[in-house]
Amino acid sequence: MSKEMKRWDSVVIGSGLAGLMAAIRLQRGGHQVLLLDRRDTPGGKCGVSKLDGYRFTIGCNDFGASMPTRLAEVGVSVEFQPSTTRIHMGPTTITSPPNLGSMLRLLPRIPGIIRLVRAVRKRTYPTIGEIMEHNVRSSPITDMLGLLAYALGTPVQDMTTESLAASFSKTWDYGLDKFMVPVNGVQAITNGLVQRFEELGGTLQLGVTCEQIETLSTHKVIHTNAGPLEATHVATTQERKYKGRPGLSACQLMLAVPKDFPYIKQRTLIHMPPGVEHWLKTLDIGETPDDYGFHIFKDQEGEDYYTITGYTLMPRGQEAPDQALMDQMEEFMMSHLETHLPGLQEALLYKKFLSPQGYKDQWGLTSELSLAITPPNEDYPPMYDEKQDVYYIGNGIDIPPGDHANSALLSGSIAADKILKQQELLP
Ligand SMILES: Cc1cc2nc3c(=O)[nH]c(=O)nc-3n(C[C@H](O)[C@H](O)[C@H](O)COP(=O)(O)OP(=O)(O)OC[C@H]3O[C@@H](n4cnc5c(N)ncnc54)[C@H](O)[C@@H]3O)c2cc1C
Repeated sequence: MSKEMKRWDSVVIGSGLAGLMAAIRLQRGGHQVLLLDRRDTPGGKCGVSKLDGYRFTIGCNDFGASMPTRLAEVGVSVEFQPSTTRIHMGPTTITSPPNLGSMLRLLPRIPGIIRLVRAVRKRTYPTIGEIMEHNVRSSPITDMLGLLAYALGTPVQDMTTESLAASFSKTWDYGLDKFMVPVNGVQAITNGLVQRFEELGGTLQLGVTCEQIETLSTHKVIHTNAGPLEATHVATTQERKYKGRPGLSACQLMLAVPKDFPYIKQRTLIHMPPGVEHWLKTLDIGETPDDYGFHIFKDQEGEDYYTITGYTLMPRGQEAPDQALMDQMEEFMMSHLETHLPGLQEALLYKKFLSPQGYKDQWGLTSELSLAITPPNEDYPPMYDEKQDVYYIGNGIDIPPGDHANSALLSGSIAADKILKQQELLP
């Protein structure tokens, strides 16, 4: 290795939320940090990109209420507002925050909800599927749980009580009981983090792919498409093969309409087939269902248009489907959307529907959802590879941090703090 090569204190691989958070904390802790990403824009799945002239959110769109605090801790200020949602489940419509009608519909279910919360707290059964079998038989509640499972891309049978309890625990404080959205779009989060990192003197390099990390006795050599780099410490979001059963993969629907096209009052619209958990089970065994659940949200504003982005889930094993299945799913979503947003088909300026494979080809990222929202605590999931002396964060954690932006941020914070502490302990 050349003697003149700069040795970074830390190299962070991947400029998604986990990488950005780790990079800021390390830089703030006195390290000279290089943050690199193989994509040409930062933010990973918490990013926005232009497609055929229209701007769309890539992944993250709704955030647990603790996100503003986590950002503020590193000096990033982003304005958030409460998220608003309308849910159509078969004949039932519920809004969040609830209106009078939604509250009246939920009122008779309160005893069932209390039984459910107790069962989760006491960890009476290992999975939510089993709790539902034994405790909760009323359909609005099973559908609500199904909805949560949809967000995690898993059938309820695989959703563990432990991870559900952790998701709502005060220890990790993800704030999942109250969702928020940035007032100026999700890009405000990534832009704020990048700006803060650069203000602190950090270096961001885009279009650089890490191919291999070589661990030597005194440092690491990061082999990239742009040549080797040297660093004392490495934290990475590179995807590793998840050891458990992976979640289902998402398909993305992208629409653009003229600015004056009327949208619903709420930002997010969820359309779910009755018996959500049966639908998820059908997808999980790789069968093509008759009905699809999906959600859309009002996305980016352009000068004379706005975009609407939506997701649905793909039957397992059909991530690169034939055109006939894609057409069938698109037709299903568009016809239901027409009833929720009358005149939509006529008003469309743009439409694109991506399969999970199409998503990967388009964004260079996977749309596979995680099974669990796992708290990245000291020992679980294992983030430190002792043999390599490398920290795996965010998507890189063997047991993934869950499809939750806050846990990605948290894993970046924990890794950075451990690296800084490790250094203090050195003579
Ligand atoms: C469709 C979809 C919707 C979602 N919606 C939400 C939501 O509404 N709310 C929520 O909280 N969570 C949501 N999530 C999950 C959330 O997006 C993730 O948990 C979070 O963004 C993960 O951040 P990360 O930094 O771990 O990974 P990523 O955002 O994937 O970033 C990883 C980065 O590392 C880079 N990288 C990887 N390998 C290399 C390499 N070898 N060399 C260089 N660079 C590399 C990638 O290019 C990427 O930019 C969603 C996920 C998906 C797929």
